[in-house]
Amino acid sequence: MIQPDLSRNRYQVAHANPHIILADVQERMVLMRLAIACPAGLYRLQPDGSLHFDVQGCLECGTCRLLCGEETITRWRYPQAGNGIEFRFG
Ligand code: SF4
Repeated sequence: MIQPDLSRNRYQVAHANPHIILADVQERMVLMRLAIACPAGLYRLQPDGSLHFDVQGCLECGTCRLLCGEETITRWRYPQAGNGIEFRFG
């Protein structure tokens, strides 16, 4: 099976206006769900039990949005024009 090479993709992130914003969620099952499901591995559980999230590298797949409600992900929208992912194959 051929594995995708995500490092070829390019990202333009609007750090001042990110397209995903998380609530201050503490529930371990929710945090684990995000950490396991994100295909880009952007949600990472830290040794202290907190969650680290970096929107850079987002594939805009919407998985996290589907798995969690608005009480967890308070904003999910596609990035504004000129931002987000540029898929590069080959
Ligand atoms: S949209 Fe997809 S790639 Fe982006 S953070 Fe959510 S699960 Fe990860």
